[in-house]
Amino acid sequence: MWTYAWVVLADGSQDIRAAVSEVMDNYFDEICLLFWCIGGPWTGIIDDPSPYEEPANFAVCSHCEGSGVRASITGAATTCPVCGGRGGIMKDPSEWVTPPLDYRSTTSLDPATVQVPYTVFTPDGRVEARDLRYFVPATWRDQRAYEHISLMRGHIPADKIIKWYDPALDPEVETYEEVMDRWISQLRDILARYPNGLVVVIACRS
Ligand SMILES: [Zn+2]
Repeated sequence: MWTYAWVVLADGSQDIRAAVSEVMDNYFDEICLLFWCIGGPWTGIIDDPSPYEEPANFAVCSHCEGSGVRASITGAATTCPVCGGRGGIMKDPSEWVTPPLDYRSTTSLDPATVQVPYTVFTPDGRVEARDLRYFVPATWRDQRAYEHISLMRGHIPADKIIKWYDPALDPEVETYEEVMDRWISQLRDILARYPNGLVVVIACRS
């Protein structure tokens, strides 16, 4: 499974790849990690400005000619299933107007404004949003499209997210919004511990 994660580096002036490697070398056995890469499927996700908001990074969708709408089998207008109504398909990152960085200084990144990860690797250990495991998207189609709830922030509305199993099993788990708010505030605390550091986006394969 691919997982979107952050690596926090205490010293932002180091060689980034070497420093991330040094942190991740501690986790291969612990989480059955096969390999990791910087960015990967989540490249650009924390960059500022966001490459996902740059119209020039999208090519016209050939399935709806950029309209975002297609005729369904009955002839009724329906949202284009290929571009999701946007009218554009994101180009390969190598064709983006500005190449993705995949890192931000800890002081410039507010976790509330970006897609949050499930796992954060820090120089002092690994932190997970464990309570997020109790939630999944409401429909199978959404579950298939995204591997984990942590990938869905901003993509699937909170009212389309349901508890996975009986919350009575864990009375500590309340609503998705409360769990997410708690995780965001935990992420802020983590970043604040490394004021001279960097946050690096990685994709883990385990
Ligand atoms: Zn389309």
